[in-house]
Amino acid sequence: MREDTRRWIRADKAHCWHPFTRQGDWCAEAHDPLVLTRGEGSWLWDSEGHRYLDGNSSIWTNIHGHAHPGITAAIRAQLDKAAHTSFLGFTHPLAAELAARLCAFFPGTLERVFFSDDGSTAVECALKLSLQHRMQTGEAERTRFVAFENGYHGDTLGAASLGGVSRFFERFTGRGYEVTHVRSLDELDRLDPIHLSGVVIEPLIQGVNEMRPWPTGMLAALRAWCDETGVHLILDEVMTGFGRTGALFACQRENVVPDFLCLAKGLTGGYLPMAATLTRERIYEAFLGPAEHAFYYGHSYTANPLGCAAAMASLDVFENEGTLAALQPKIDHLRAGLASLQAAHPLIHEVRQCGFIAGIELRQPDGSRFPRESRAGETFCLALRKHGLLTRPILDTVVLMPPLCTSTRELDHALAAIDAAISENPGIDTRPARP
Ligand SMILES: *Cc1c(COP(=O)(O)O)cnc(C)c1O
Repeated sequence: MREDTRRWIRADKAHCWHPFTRQGDWCAEAHDPLVLTRGEGSWLWDSEGHRYLDGNSSIWTNIHGHAHPGITAAIRAQLDKAAHTSFLGFTHPLAAELAARLCAFFPGTLERVFFSDDGSTAVECALKLSLQHRMQTGEAERTRFVAFENGYHGDTLGAASLGGVSRFFERFTGRGYEVTHVRSLDELDRLDPIHLSGVVIEPLIQGVNEMRPWPTGMLAALRAWCDETGVHLILDEVMTGFGRTGALFACQRENVVPDFLCLAKGLTGGYLPMAATLTRERIYEAFLGPAEHAFYYGHSYTANPLGCAAAMASLDVFENEGTLAALQPKIDHLRAGLASLQAAHPLIHEVRQCGFIAGIELRQPDGSRFPRESRAGETFCLALRKHGLLTRPILDTVVLMPPLCTSTRELDHALAAIDAAISENPGIDTRPARP
């Protein structure tokens, strides 16, 4: 190992605290974390010079690949002008243009954009806007939200109170918003909507819930239910936005327009942290008038100009490179490749795919789940690294959602890595204690 690599790992283990990580395992002597130093297109390099396909788009953020010349140039051009100026009391050209451009995808419906910093704050904003809107339109009794079991909407306290993944959120239950969790539309239908402000959902597919797609038509049915009951439809497209599902936005696949649309991860092409909450003019209008009706909420880096430059450039790439048209045959290629993998390997219990997002669930040959402590998914993803594929599992579901620019040849590299890793570990090494 190079001396630089050793030094970085030492400093990390001494001072960094990683998200969703058992730090004891991370800092163990035997654990050598990858130090990622460079990216190009769908590939990443570590500090030892090894190359890996970015199989989960750098935690679901990257859209057009790393170091894209167009996006990089746009950020540089803005950097030469100003890295950050305040959006509190001022505006700037790129924020104005980006807001108009996002709204143009929803002509006449979503016409206002509130910028923030990440997926959690995009959701947080939607929740606060929904509640405050109720207070200012004579519906103050609508104080509750509905979210779906096993859903994930971020980690700030408000967003976390929507979260339905018990292993993450149970310990904070009751400390945020008042939330009712349901499993299905049928359960939702049985609720009395009178106290409900909004219903929040990840459209088409739940990400953190091991990549589980909703039944076709579910989203349109949910929209109809919201229309009947007057409950706000809040779509969390933090993962599904910007082409992942094959359409620019997942909601377009069922011709649904929400009352709030939360965007983050892919908004800047995955280059900078930035988020947007889109809403209807009708909702915005309830915040006009008296001073106390204003929305007193914001973050220091709101509408950061570098983020806006990246987002504009990413949308340019969609147009100039015909990203979505080029994606359709690759989605089919991925589906076919995953089907033949599944046919070849009994350890693949189920493949779940929505557009360019796939989850590959591993189970024991008899169909039962691996014991939780065996951490089979993590062990398997470590084996994938040796074959040049970088990704993370969710429990024992291996996530495969590379950047949209990934070619069919690169997809074949990923599929071959999975094939090889399963063939080498037919029972999957189930020794515990790997981070
Ligand atoms: C990642 C994610 C979030 C949280 O976004 P952050 O930027 O990590 O705060 C919210 N909702 C969904 C569906 C996500 O996938």
